[in-house]
Amino acid sequence: VTIQTTSDRYDVLVGKGLINDLITLLETVSPSKVLIVTDSVVDQYFGDEVLQKVSEHFHALKYVVKSGEESKSFEAYYDIQTFALQNEFDRKSALIALGGGVIGDLAGFVAATFMRGIPFIQVPTTLLAHDSAVGGKVAINHPEGKNMIGAFYQPIGVIYDINYLATLPADEFRSGFAEVVKHSFIRNEELYQFLLENVPTLENVSDTVLQKMIIEGIKVKAEVVSEDEKELGVREILNFGHTLGHAIEAELGYGKISHGDGVAIGMLFALSLSKQLLNEELPYEQLKQWFKQLGFPTKVPDELSTEQLINRMKRDKKSLSNKIKMILLQSIGVTTSKVFTSDQLESYLNEWRQEE
Ligand code: NAD
Ligand code: ZN
Repeated sequence: VTIQTTSDRYDVLVGKGLINDLITLLETVSPSKVLIVTDSVVDQYFGDEVLQKVSEHFHALKYVVKSGEESKSFEAYYDIQTFALQNEFDRKSALIALGGGVIGDLAGFVAATFMRGIPFIQVPTTLLAHDSAVGGKVAINHPEGKNMIGAFYQPIGVIYDINYLATLPADEFRSGFAEVVKHSFIRNEELYQFLLENVPTLENVSDTVLQKMIIEGIKVKAEVVSEDEKELGVREILNFGHTLGHAIEAELGYGKISHGDGVAIGMLFALSLSKQLLNEELPYEQLKQWFKQLGFPTKVPDELSTEQLINRMKRDKKSLSNKIKMILLQSIGVTTSKVFTSDQLESYLNEWRQEE
């Protein structure tokens, strides 16, 4: 898949055994040195293999951060910069982000700012990273909020070797799958039908199916992002399922529920609203049944009150004063948006929760 941005163009390769493609891509920038940034879990599986292969061609060093969201911190960011400076990396160096969305965001932000920017390559190892590796957003968190410090910075390429996904825990796989479903809903009806038919459960998804869902998911993300690189308009459709999803994640406490599980609940609510307000043909019952089969939660956890969720949605940095904007579906593959007053949305959400 080729990603076109206003200033750049780069390829996302999806396949098996792509390490030679990684070397070829690195050769295009003739780096003085290569820094591989990864996390402690990914390192155990693939760190040495990648380091060894890259070292056959370039002077390479590896830096390992702790696995998990807490590594998207100023401290980790600073420590990587320190490591790079002390090891005499320079403006001609390149960086490889080997891992999931955490590593892509963290290492990408290091690459964006080290010596005012060095080339970097995303080597995703999670399914969720089909989403995070495309779009050029890189960031770290601040205690005041997630992704508050960052940049728009494109990689020179993405090398997506699906062999790396074999070791991914089931709940991480499911979390990433929610974003694939989201991409199908907002822009690709055919993909939705394909997933419905070919993914009755998340165990033993074949390589062919996996490759197809990643490629099609990336195409949707790339299309939306290229229409709106700096997030001024159409990109908001990527928020489908996220308004409620984020609120659930935040109110439960990050890490208590996976991002994808939160988004799955959010998508169900958004689809139910869409069906009620826009198009009664929408396959809400089908989605709910399928999500149950896949192991997604299909309702808001009981310990969260509707009021508390609505208050959280109101405080979302993307929302307007006392109004909440929801991305809804006209039909599968066709989005629209609707602004609700918080009272309206609260009664819809209450109603939906009571039906469950
Ligand atoms: P992650 O990178 O933390 O990976 C999830 C877990 O899986 C971690 O524990 C990791 O160590 C482990 N792991 C990774 N690859 C593995 C493998 N192949 N085998 C076994 N274990 C493996 O998280 P994620 O879900 O990939 O990404 C979430 C992050 O992505 C969040 O910080 C989110 O903000 C960010 N994100 C960014 C964008 C963007 O546009 N930049 C979009 C969506 C999400
Ligand atoms: Zn998401």
